[in-house]
Amino acid sequence: MPTYHYRCKNCGYDFTIQRSITADPLTQCPQCKAEEIHQVYSAVPINFKGSGFYHTDKDKK
Ligand SMILES: [Zn+2]
Repeated sequence: MPTYHYRCKNCGYDFTIQRSITADPLTQCPQCKAEEIHQVYSAVPINFKGSGFYHTDKDKK
């Protein structure tokens, strides 16, 4: 099961959660209950730098 990394914009709570890829997206902070969370993508290492690959706009911030 994939692990997702989230951060709450309201209280700053930083957490990871394991959930099914078919589950509904998490929208509510488990600590303050605000619907101000966003997913942090930088937690996933990128290991596909072999030949034949090049940077895509996924790397843009
Ligand atoms: Zn919060």
